[in-house]
Amino acid sequence: MADQGRVVIRNASILDPAAGELLPDRVITVEGGDIVDVGDSPGASTGARQIDAGGRVVMPGLIDGHVHVLAYTANLPAAAEQSPYYVAARAGEILRGMLDRGFTTVRDAAGADYGLADAVREGYFVGPTVVFGGKALSQTGGHGDGRPRGREVHDDAYCAPTHCRVVDGVDEVRRAVRDEIRKGAEHIKLMLGGGVASPTDRIDSTQFSVEEIRAAVQEATAANRYVLGHAYTSKAVNRGLAAGVRSIEHGNLIDETSIPLFLEHDAFYVPTLATYSALAEEGPAAGLPAESFAKVFEVLDAGLHALELAHRGGVKIVYGTDLLGDMHYRQLTEFALRAQVQPAADILRSATTTAAELLGLPGRIGTLAPGASADLLVLDGNPLEDIAVLTKPADALRLIMHRGRVHKNTLI
Ligand code: ZN
Ligand code: ZN
Repeated sequence: MADQGRVVIRNASILDPAAGELLPDRVITVEGGDIVDVGDSPGASTGARQIDAGGRVVMPGLIDGHVHVLAYTANLPAAAEQSPYYVAARAGEILRGMLDRGFTTVRDAAGADYGLADAVREGYFVGPTVVFGGKALSQTGGHGDGRPRGREVHDDAYCAPTHCRVVDGVDEVRRAVRDEIRKGAEHIKLMLGGGVASPTDRIDSTQFSVEEIRAAVQEATAANRYVLGHAYTSKAVNRGLAAGVRSIEHGNLIDETSIPLFLEHDAFYVPTLATYSALAEEGPAAGLPAESFAKVFEVLDAGLHALELAHRGGVKIVYGTDLLGDMHYRQLTEFALRAQVQPAADILRSATTTAAELLGLPGRIGTLAPGASADLLVLDGNPLEDIAVLTKPADALRLIMHRGRVHKNTLI
Protein backbone atom coordinates (compact mmCIF):
# COMPACT_ATOMS: atom_id res chain seq x y z
CA MET A 1 0.00 0.00 0.00
CA ALA A 2 1.27 3.49 -0.81
CA ASP A 3 2.80 5.39 2.08
CA GLN A 4 0.35 7.96 3.39
CA GLY A 5 3.00 10.39 4.64
CA ARG A 6 2.61 12.38 7.83
CA VAL A 7 -0.90 13.25 9.05
CA VAL A 8 -1.71 15.51 12.00
CA ILE A 9 -5.16 15.28 13.61
CA ARG A 10 -5.88 18.39 15.70
CA ASN A 11 -8.65 19.25 18.15
CA ALA A 12 -9.14 15.63 19.09
CA SER A 13 -11.07 14.65 22.18
CA ILE A 14 -9.44 11.26 22.68
CA LEU A 15 -11.54 8.47 24.13
CA ASP A 16 -9.31 6.35 26.37
CA PRO A 17 -11.13 3.02 26.76
CA ALA A 18 -8.88 1.78 29.58
CA ALA A 19 -9.68 4.80 31.78
CA GLY A 20 -13.21 5.23 30.43
CA GLU A 21 -12.75 8.97 29.94
CA LEU A 22 -12.14 11.68 27.35
CA LEU A 23 -8.85 13.58 26.99
CA PRO A 24 -9.70 16.90 25.28
CA ASP A 25 -7.54 19.11 23.03
CA ARG A 26 -5.14 16.40 21.86
CA VAL A 27 -3.06 16.33 18.71
CA ILE A 28 -2.36 12.93 17.13
CA THR A 29 0.54 12.58 14.71
CA VAL A 30 0.52 9.66 12.29
CA GLU A 31 3.39 8.50 10.12
CA GLY A 32 4.06 5.31 8.17
CA GLY A 33 0.74 3.82 9.23
CA ASP A 34 1.45 4.23 12.96
CA ILE A 35 0.70 6.80 15.64
CA VAL A 36 4.04 8.44 16.41
CA ASP A 37 2.94 11.13 18.85
CA VAL A 38 0.00 12.16 21.01
CA GLY A 39 0.32 15.55 22.70
CA ASP A 40 -1.18 18.97 23.22
CA SER A 41 0.69 20.67 20.37
CA PRO A 42 1.41 19.62 16.79
CA GLY A 43 5.21 19.87 17.09
CA ALA A 44 7.14 19.98 13.82
CA SER A 45 4.33 19.39 11.35
CA THR A 46 5.60 21.10 8.23
CA GLY A 47 4.35 19.38 5.13
CA ALA A 48 1.98 17.18 7.10
CA ARG A 49 -1.61 16.71 6.02
CA GLN A 50 -3.86 18.39 8.60
CA ILE A 51 -7.21 17.03 9.80
CA ASP A 52 -9.30 19.13 12.17
CA ALA A 53 -11.45 16.88 14.36
CA GLY A 54 -13.30 20.00 15.58
CA GLY A 55 -13.29 18.84 19.22
CA ARG A 56 -15.08 15.61 18.34
CA VAL A 57 -14.47 12.27 20.02
CA VAL A 58 -11.60 10.33 18.48
CA MET A 59 -11.45 6.68 19.49
CA PRO A 60 -9.47 3.59 18.52
CA GLY A 61 -10.87 1.59 15.60
CA LEU A 62 -13.19 -1.20 16.71
CA ILE A 63 -12.16 -4.84 17.03
CA ASP A 64 -14.61 -7.66 16.34
CA GLY A 65 -13.31 -10.79 18.06
CA HIS A 66 -15.53 -13.27 16.23
CA VAL A 67 -16.30 -13.00 12.52
CA HIS A 68 -16.35 -15.29 9.48
CA VAL A 69 -15.33 -13.25 6.47
CA LEU A 70 -15.94 -16.19 4.11
CA ALA A 71 -19.55 -16.66 5.28
CA TYR A 72 -21.29 -14.97 2.36
CA THR A 73 -24.35 -17.19 2.99
CA ALA A 74 -25.83 -18.67 6.14
CA ASN A 75 -25.83 -22.03 4.37
CA LEU A 76 -22.24 -22.97 5.23
CA PRO A 77 -22.40 -26.54 3.88
CA ALA A 78 -23.51 -25.13 0.49
CA ALA A 79 -20.75 -22.52 0.54
CA ALA A 80 -18.21 -25.31 0.82
CA GLU A 81 -19.24 -26.47 -2.68
CA GLN A 82 -18.45 -23.08 -4.24
CA SER A 83 -15.36 -22.07 -6.14
CA PRO A 84 -12.82 -20.49 -3.76
CA TYR A 85 -12.47 -17.58 -6.19
CA TYR A 86 -16.16 -16.74 -5.93
CA VAL A 87 -16.03 -17.01 -2.15
CA ALA A 88 -13.01 -14.69 -2.04
CA ALA A 89 -14.86 -12.11 -4.13
CA ARG A 90 -17.80 -12.21 -1.70
CA ALA A 91 -15.39 -12.02 1.24
CA GLY A 92 -13.98 -8.81 -0.24
CA GLU A 93 -17.45 -7.28 -0.12
CA ILE A 94 -17.98 -8.44 3.48
CA LEU A 95 -14.61 -7.00 4.54
CA ARG A 96 -15.37 -3.59 3.03
CA GLY A 97 -18.66 -3.48 4.94
CA MET A 98 -16.85 -4.17 8.20
CA LEU A 99 -14.43 -1.30 7.70
CA ASP A 100 -17.34 0.98 6.73
CA ARG A 101 -18.82 0.22 10.17
CA GLY A 102 -15.63 1.24 11.96
CA PHE A 103 -14.02 -2.16 12.51
CA THR A 104 -10.29 -1.87 11.81
CA THR A 105 -9.29 -5.34 13.08
CA VAL A 106 -11.30 -8.56 12.97
CA ARG A 107 -10.43 -11.97 14.37
CA ASP A 108 -11.66 -14.57 11.92
CA ALA A 109 -12.97 -17.53 13.91
CA ALA A 110 -12.80 -20.05 11.04
CA GLY A 111 -12.32 -19.92 7.31
CA ALA A 112 -10.01 -17.03 6.47
CA ASP A 113 -6.42 -17.80 5.67
CA TYR A 114 -3.13 -16.11 4.85
CA GLY A 115 -4.34 -15.30 1.33
CA LEU A 116 -7.17 -13.08 2.55
CA ALA A 117 -5.05 -11.46 5.25
CA ASP A 118 -2.32 -10.70 2.68
CA ALA A 119 -4.85 -9.36 0.15
CA VAL A 120 -6.05 -6.81 2.72
CA ARG A 121 -2.57 -5.91 3.93
CA GLU A 122 -1.41 -5.33 0.35
CA GLY A 123 -4.48 -3.24 -0.46
CA TYR A 124 -6.17 -5.56 -2.98
CA PHE A 125 -9.16 -5.88 -0.68
CA VAL A 126 -10.40 -2.88 1.30
CA GLY A 127 -11.13 -4.03 4.82
CA PRO A 128 -9.96 -4.34 8.40
CA THR A 129 -6.79 -6.17 9.36
CA VAL A 130 -7.65 -9.88 9.38
CA VAL A 131 -6.25 -11.92 12.26
CA PHE A 132 -6.85 -15.45 11.03
CA GLY A 133 -6.74 -19.01 12.29
CA GLY A 134 -7.25 -20.93 9.05
CA LYS A 135 -9.69 -23.80 9.29
CA ALA A 136 -11.29 -24.73 12.58
CA LEU A 137 -10.88 -28.29 13.81
CA SER A 138 -13.96 -30.45 14.29
CA GLN A 139 -14.42 -34.10 15.16
CA THR A 140 -16.42 -36.37 12.84
CA GLY A 141 -20.09 -35.45 13.24
CA GLY A 142 -19.13 -32.29 15.10
CA HIS A 143 -20.03 -28.65 14.55
CA GLY A 144 -17.57 -28.36 11.66
CA ASP A 145 -18.70 -31.49 9.82
CA GLY A 146 -21.04 -30.09 7.18
CA ARG A 147 -22.03 -33.39 5.59
CA PRO A 148 -25.68 -34.31 5.48
CA ARG A 149 -26.42 -37.66 7.15
CA GLY A 150 -26.32 -39.69 3.96
CA ARG A 151 -22.95 -38.48 2.70
CA GLU A 152 -19.96 -40.71 3.50
CA VAL A 153 -17.05 -38.78 2.08
CA HIS A 154 -15.84 -35.49 3.50
CA ASP A 155 -14.20 -33.23 0.91
CA ASP A 156 -10.97 -32.42 2.66
CA ALA A 157 -9.23 -30.78 -0.29
CA TYR A 158 -7.63 -27.87 1.51
CA CYS A 159 -8.52 -25.28 -1.11
CA ALA A 160 -12.26 -26.03 -0.84
CA PRO A 161 -13.69 -22.93 0.87
CA THR A 162 -14.82 -24.79 3.99
CA HIS A 163 -14.63 -23.28 7.44
CA CYS A 164 -13.39 -26.46 9.08
CA ARG A 165 -11.35 -29.61 8.74
CA VAL A 166 -12.49 -32.87 10.31
CA VAL A 167 -9.93 -34.67 12.46
CA ASP A 168 -10.18 -37.51 14.96
CA GLY A 169 -7.70 -38.73 17.53
CA VAL A 170 -4.77 -37.08 19.24
CA ASP A 171 -2.37 -37.65 16.34
CA GLU A 172 -4.65 -36.14 13.70
CA VAL A 173 -5.44 -33.18 15.94
CA ARG A 174 -1.74 -32.58 16.55
CA ARG A 175 -0.93 -32.78 12.84
CA ALA A 176 -3.77 -30.43 11.90
CA VAL A 177 -2.76 -27.82 14.49
CA ARG A 178 0.83 -27.95 13.29
CA ASP A 179 -0.38 -27.64 9.70
CA GLU A 180 -2.56 -24.58 10.43
CA ILE A 181 0.37 -22.98 12.23
CA ARG A 182 2.59 -23.83 9.26
CA LYS A 183 0.13 -21.84 7.13
CA GLY A 184 0.42 -18.86 9.48
CA ALA A 185 -2.56 -19.32 11.82
CA GLU A 186 -2.54 -16.76 14.62
CA HIS A 187 -4.86 -18.90 16.74
CA ILE A 188 -6.43 -22.37 16.57
CA LYS A 189 -10.18 -22.90 16.72
CA LEU A 190 -11.69 -26.07 18.15
CA MET A 191 -15.33 -27.10 18.07
CA LEU A 192 -15.86 -28.13 21.70
CA GLY A 193 -19.59 -28.81 21.43
CA GLY A 194 -22.60 -28.80 19.14
CA GLY A 195 -23.78 -25.77 17.19
CA VAL A 196 -26.55 -24.12 15.24
CA ALA A 197 -25.18 -24.13 11.69
CA SER A 198 -24.18 -27.82 11.63
CA PRO A 199 -26.62 -30.38 10.18
CA THR A 200 -26.17 -33.42 12.41
CA ASP A 201 -25.01 -32.53 15.93
CA ARG A 202 -26.82 -31.49 19.09
CA ILE A 203 -26.22 -28.21 20.90
CA ASP A 204 -25.83 -30.04 24.22
CA SER A 205 -23.14 -32.44 22.99
CA THR A 206 -19.50 -32.17 24.01
CA GLN A 207 -17.00 -32.70 21.20
CA PHE A 208 -13.39 -33.89 21.14
CA SER A 209 -11.95 -35.92 23.98
CA VAL A 210 -10.05 -34.11 26.73
CA GLU A 211 -6.86 -35.71 25.35
CA GLU A 212 -7.53 -34.23 21.90
CA ILE A 213 -8.20 -30.77 23.37
CA ARG A 214 -5.03 -30.95 25.46
CA ALA A 215 -2.99 -31.99 22.40
CA ALA A 216 -4.27 -28.95 20.47
CA VAL A 217 -3.48 -26.63 23.38
CA GLN A 218 0.02 -28.11 23.72
CA GLU A 219 0.79 -27.62 20.03
CA ALA A 220 -0.62 -24.10 19.93
CA THR A 221 1.24 -23.12 23.10
CA ALA A 222 4.48 -24.57 21.74
CA ALA A 223 4.15 -22.20 18.77
CA ASN A 224 3.23 -19.26 21.02
CA ARG A 225 -0.36 -19.37 19.81
CA TYR A 226 -3.60 -20.09 21.68
CA VAL A 227 -6.82 -22.06 21.26
CA LEU A 228 -10.32 -20.66 21.03
CA GLY A 229 -13.25 -22.97 21.53
CA HIS A 230 -16.82 -22.96 20.24
CA ALA A 231 -19.08 -24.08 23.12
CA TYR A 232 -22.53 -23.33 24.56
CA THR A 233 -22.98 -25.30 27.77
CA SER A 234 -20.93 -25.25 30.96
CA LYS A 235 -20.26 -28.94 30.37
CA ALA A 236 -18.44 -28.12 27.13
CA VAL A 237 -17.00 -24.78 28.29
CA ASN A 238 -15.55 -26.11 31.56
CA ARG A 239 -13.67 -29.04 30.06
CA GLY A 240 -12.20 -26.64 27.47
CA LEU A 241 -11.09 -24.13 30.11
CA ALA A 242 -9.60 -26.87 32.30
CA ALA A 243 -7.62 -28.13 29.28
CA GLY A 244 -6.17 -24.66 28.61
CA VAL A 245 -8.51 -23.17 25.97
CA ARG A 246 -7.98 -19.40 26.27
CA SER A 247 -11.06 -17.97 24.55
CA ILE A 248 -14.61 -19.31 24.80
CA GLU A 249 -16.97 -18.40 21.95
CA HIS A 250 -20.79 -18.04 22.44
CA GLY A 251 -21.23 -19.72 25.87
CA ASN A 252 -24.96 -18.89 25.84
CA LEU A 253 -25.92 -21.78 28.12
CA ILE A 254 -23.25 -21.43 30.82
CA ASP A 255 -24.10 -21.48 34.52
CA GLU A 256 -22.22 -20.17 37.59
CA THR A 257 -19.76 -23.08 37.54
CA SER A 258 -17.89 -21.62 34.56
CA ILE A 259 -17.11 -18.23 36.14
CA PRO A 260 -14.35 -19.31 38.59
CA LEU A 261 -12.73 -21.37 35.80
CA PHE A 262 -12.54 -18.33 33.50
CA LEU A 263 -10.85 -16.39 36.31
CA GLU A 264 -8.52 -19.20 37.37
CA HIS A 265 -7.26 -19.73 33.80
CA ASP A 266 -7.22 -16.02 32.88
CA ALA A 267 -9.47 -16.89 29.93
CA PHE A 268 -11.65 -14.63 27.78
CA TYR A 269 -15.35 -14.82 26.99
CA VAL A 270 -16.58 -13.83 23.51
CA PRO A 271 -20.40 -13.73 23.42
CA THR A 272 -21.95 -13.35 19.98
CA LEU A 273 -25.48 -12.17 20.71
CA ALA A 274 -25.94 -10.35 17.38
CA THR A 275 -26.05 -13.52 15.34
CA TYR A 276 -28.86 -15.21 17.29
CA SER A 277 -31.29 -12.34 17.03
CA ALA A 278 -30.32 -12.06 13.35
CA LEU A 279 -30.87 -15.79 12.72
CA ALA A 280 -34.18 -15.74 14.58
CA GLU A 281 -35.47 -12.82 12.51
CA GLU A 282 -34.01 -13.47 9.08
CA GLY A 283 -32.05 -16.74 9.12
CA PRO A 284 -34.19 -18.71 6.64
CA ALA A 285 -34.24 -15.80 4.17
CA ALA A 286 -30.43 -15.67 4.39
CA GLY A 287 -30.11 -19.36 3.50
CA LEU A 288 -30.09 -20.97 6.94
CA PRO A 289 -31.29 -24.57 6.51
CA ALA A 290 -34.42 -25.62 8.44
CA GLU A 291 -32.57 -28.05 10.74
CA SER A 292 -30.31 -25.19 11.85
CA PHE A 293 -33.14 -22.66 12.25
CA ALA A 294 -34.83 -24.98 14.74
CA LYS A 295 -31.71 -24.83 16.94
CA VAL A 296 -31.48 -21.02 17.12
CA PHE A 297 -34.14 -20.78 19.80
CA GLU A 298 -32.29 -23.15 22.13
CA VAL A 299 -29.64 -20.46 22.71
CA LEU A 300 -31.27 -17.13 21.82
CA ASP A 301 -32.76 -16.01 25.13
CA ALA A 302 -30.08 -17.55 27.34
CA GLY A 303 -27.34 -15.38 25.81
CA LEU A 304 -28.07 -12.23 27.83
CA HIS A 305 -28.18 -14.20 31.06
CA ALA A 306 -24.77 -15.72 30.29
CA LEU A 307 -23.34 -12.27 29.58
CA GLU A 308 -24.72 -11.01 32.89
CA LEU A 309 -23.13 -13.90 34.80
CA ALA A 310 -19.74 -13.25 33.19
CA HIS A 311 -19.96 -9.48 33.64
CA ARG A 312 -20.89 -9.72 37.33
CA GLY A 313 -18.17 -12.34 37.85
CA GLY A 314 -15.42 -10.08 36.45
CA VAL A 315 -14.62 -12.25 33.42
CA LYS A 316 -12.66 -10.59 30.61
CA ILE A 317 -15.27 -10.09 27.87
CA VAL A 318 -14.55 -9.41 24.19
CA TYR A 319 -16.83 -8.07 21.45
CA GLY A 320 -17.95 -10.68 18.92
CA THR A 321 -20.77 -11.01 16.38
CA ASP A 322 -20.46 -14.27 14.36
CA LEU A 323 -22.79 -13.01 11.60
CA LEU A 324 -23.42 -14.93 8.40
CA GLY A 325 -24.50 -14.06 4.88
CA ASP A 326 -26.77 -11.07 4.32
CA MET A 327 -26.92 -10.49 8.09
CA HIS A 328 -23.46 -8.91 8.32
CA TYR A 329 -25.05 -5.45 8.27
CA ARG A 330 -26.09 -6.13 11.91
CA GLN A 331 -22.48 -6.14 13.15
CA LEU A 332 -23.01 -3.04 15.31
CA THR A 333 -26.22 -4.31 16.93
CA GLU A 334 -24.07 -6.19 19.45
CA PHE A 335 -23.41 -2.83 21.16
CA ALA A 336 -27.11 -2.25 21.80
CA LEU A 337 -27.74 -5.85 22.84
CA ARG A 338 -24.93 -5.78 25.43
CA ALA A 339 -26.06 -2.39 26.72
CA GLN A 340 -28.99 -4.22 28.31
CA VAL A 341 -26.46 -5.72 30.73
CA GLN A 342 -23.19 -3.77 30.66
CA PRO A 343 -22.21 -0.10 31.09
CA ALA A 344 -20.93 1.65 27.94
CA ALA A 345 -17.32 1.88 29.17
CA ASP A 346 -17.14 -1.90 29.64
CA ILE A 347 -18.56 -2.58 26.18
CA LEU A 348 -16.06 -0.13 24.66
CA ARG A 349 -13.18 -1.96 26.35
CA SER A 350 -14.48 -5.27 25.01
CA ALA A 351 -14.16 -3.90 21.46
CA THR A 352 -10.77 -2.21 22.02
CA THR A 353 -8.30 -2.87 24.86
CA THR A 354 -9.60 -6.25 26.07
CA ALA A 355 -9.89 -7.52 22.50
CA ALA A 356 -6.32 -6.35 21.83
CA GLU A 357 -5.14 -8.32 24.86
CA LEU A 358 -6.89 -11.46 23.62
CA LEU A 359 -5.37 -11.06 20.15
CA GLY A 360 -1.90 -10.66 21.66
CA LEU A 361 -1.66 -7.09 20.34
CA PRO A 362 -1.93 -4.81 23.42
CA GLY A 363 -0.48 -1.40 22.67
CA ARG A 364 -0.67 -2.07 18.90
CA ILE A 365 -4.46 -1.95 18.43
CA GLY A 366 -7.41 -0.82 20.54
CA THR A 367 -5.54 2.23 21.84
CA LEU A 368 -4.42 5.67 20.65
CA ALA A 369 -0.84 5.97 21.86
CA PRO A 370 2.59 6.21 20.23
CA GLY A 371 3.53 2.84 18.76
CA ALA A 372 -0.07 1.85 17.99
CA SER A 373 -1.34 1.24 14.49
CA ALA A 374 -3.11 4.39 13.25
CA ASP A 375 -6.58 2.81 13.39
CA LEU A 376 -9.03 5.44 14.55
CA LEU A 377 -12.55 6.82 14.29
CA VAL A 378 -13.89 10.38 14.61
CA LEU A 379 -17.45 10.50 15.92
CA ASP A 380 -20.32 12.91 16.31
CA GLY A 381 -21.35 12.10 19.88
CA ASN A 382 -19.73 10.40 22.85
CA PRO A 383 -20.20 6.62 23.07
CA LEU A 384 -19.29 6.69 26.78
CA GLU A 385 -22.56 8.56 27.31
CA ASP A 386 -24.57 6.79 24.63
CA ILE A 387 -23.17 3.63 23.09
CA ALA A 388 -25.84 3.84 20.36
CA VAL A 389 -23.69 6.51 18.67
CA LEU A 390 -21.61 3.63 17.30
CA THR A 391 -24.62 1.94 15.77
CA LYS A 392 -25.29 4.78 13.28
CA PRO A 393 -22.12 4.89 11.19
CA ALA A 394 -23.70 6.57 8.16
CA ASP A 395 -24.37 9.72 10.20
CA ALA A 396 -22.20 9.64 13.31
CA LEU A 397 -19.00 8.12 11.98
CA ARG A 398 -17.24 11.08 10.36
CA LEU A 399 -13.77 9.68 9.76
CA ILE A 400 -12.31 6.17 9.54
CA MET A 401 -8.55 5.72 9.41
CA HIS A 402 -7.03 2.26 9.01
CA ARG A 403 -3.26 1.83 9.28
CA GLY A 404 -2.81 5.52 8.55
CA ARG A 405 -4.96 5.45 5.41
CA VAL A 406 -8.15 7.55 5.42
CA HIS A 407 -11.02 5.25 4.41
CA LYS A 408 -13.82 7.76 5.01
CA ASN A 409 -13.82 11.46 5.81
CA THR A 410 -16.93 13.63 5.96
CA LEU A 411 -15.28 16.30 8.15
CA ILE A 412 -14.42 18.40 5.11
ZN1 ZN B 1 -19.32 -21.20 16.80
ZN1 ZN C 1 -18.43 -18.53 14.53
